[in-house]
Amino acid sequence: MLRNDLLEEWDRENFLHPSTHLAEFARGNAPQRVIRSGSGSHIEDRDGNRLLDAFAGLYCVNVGYGRPEIAEAIAEQARELAYYHAYVGHGTEASIQLSKMILDRAPDHMSKVYFGLSGSDANETNVKLIWYYNNVLGRPEKKKIISRWRGYHGSGLMTGSLTGLELFHKAFDLPLAPVLHTEAPYYFRRADVSMSEEAFVAHCAAELEALIEREGAETIAAFWAEPMLGTGGIVPPPAGYWEAIQPILKKHDILLVADEVVTGFGRLGTMFGSEHYGLEPDLITIAKGLTSAYAPLSGSIVSEKIWKGLEQGTDAMGPIGHGWTYSAHPIGAAAGVANLELIDKLDLVTAAGETGAHFNRALAEALGDHPHVGEVRGEGMIAAVEFVEDREARAFFDPARKVGPQIAAALLERGVIARAMPQGDILGFAPPFCLTRAEAEEVADKTAAAVRAVL
Ligand code: PLP
Repeated sequence: MLRNDLLEEWDRENFLHPSTHLAEFARGNAPQRVIRSGSGSHIEDRDGNRLLDAFAGLYCVNVGYGRPEIAEAIAEQARELAYYHAYVGHGTEASIQLSKMILDRAPDHMSKVYFGLSGSDANETNVKLIWYYNNVLGRPEKKKIISRWRGYHGSGLMTGSLTGLELFHKAFDLPLAPVLHTEAPYYFRRADVSMSEEAFVAHCAAELEALIEREGAETIAAFWAEPMLGTGGIVPPPAGYWEAIQPILKKHDILLVADEVVTGFGRLGTMFGSEHYGLEPDLITIAKGLTSAYAPLSGSIVSEKIWKGLEQGTDAMGPIGHGWTYSAHPIGAAAGVANLELIDKLDLVTAAGETGAHFNRALAEALGDHPHVGEVRGEGMIAAVEFVEDREARAFFDPARKVGPQIAAALLERGVIARAMPQGDILGFAPPFCLTRAEAEEVADKTAAAVRAVL
């Protein structure tokens, strides 16, 4: 029985929350909020506070809250067939239809999709598919994976290793040995302040190539990257970055995995980030926007080249030994179908691009001149504001001051949710695609007010 008067207490006593200061939470000294409902770009907590969610949950509720079309598709699927597995050739109408819808939207050279539940497990699947592929091709030593500092790819053992953020490594004995990290394409935080953007891109490319040559290309299977850095700071790549990186990978026969968990299905104003930045990935990881988080579902999209390896492998060895009970869960698949239909019907990818551009402009106008705003950056419906102690010298605040979290808290007091990104004093925004222009301006104005209140 739900005891409303005891909810907060039960929460502190029983619930281990992810990415939370567990001890402070249990002692009642950390923020605690019980969310009850959502509609459009807003959520409401159980005290009746209505908040504009400018981070769409965890950049995932892309079509916005409270969409009856998706809720009804989920209910209908649950009534009809809540579950059946996808092993040994089984499928459901929803999962088969969704696989076709995904491939229709993915870059032309992509061939098949494997379904999982979260971005983390889809990345884990991609690691295994790549290792399997290289074993089938008779090059078992080609297994190491390069990802980037500041990248985020999940928090499993392998995916937490691929992630390049200290918080996700420390005290977990990560990263695991097969993972190597290279320079993040983060021009604003480059070590040498005098370096031009062009020189910085050349530096990133040279770092990558030096790492490949040091380790031996014959030992490196793949390069893992978000088309645009997300959790590591919301950083669009500097001009020419992907044009410099991709030929190096090709030259050394290293696969490219585009982790499109955030950028997939419209956030940058194109269906995929790969399209936006001209990437030609061998595998693509999708999650979040696939169902707009109405149900957990993820996918690993493989290119024709990888598919050929999988085909050859199973012909030689029999069924592939990889699967989750909930792979292609029918309820997730039904949510995915309804979500992609809604995105098409309302042309939400175009909306994300257009309203997103308006939002980015509004943020830059409201904050660009503030002496402690180092950079306002973004693309489509995603943006970040990075704070600095001194703009001219590009000196960063002492992390102990927690400037980012303080500003996020001041903004929350004004009714807007943004995310203090886990590393650096960066406020992140990734609103739902249904954000209106008026809401975009409200977020920008309230952010400016929050910044003035703290700095
Ligand atoms: N990859 C990227 C780019 C992400 O941003 C995330 C989550 O934020 C993940 C993977 C992990 O997804 P999940 O939290 O669903 O495991």
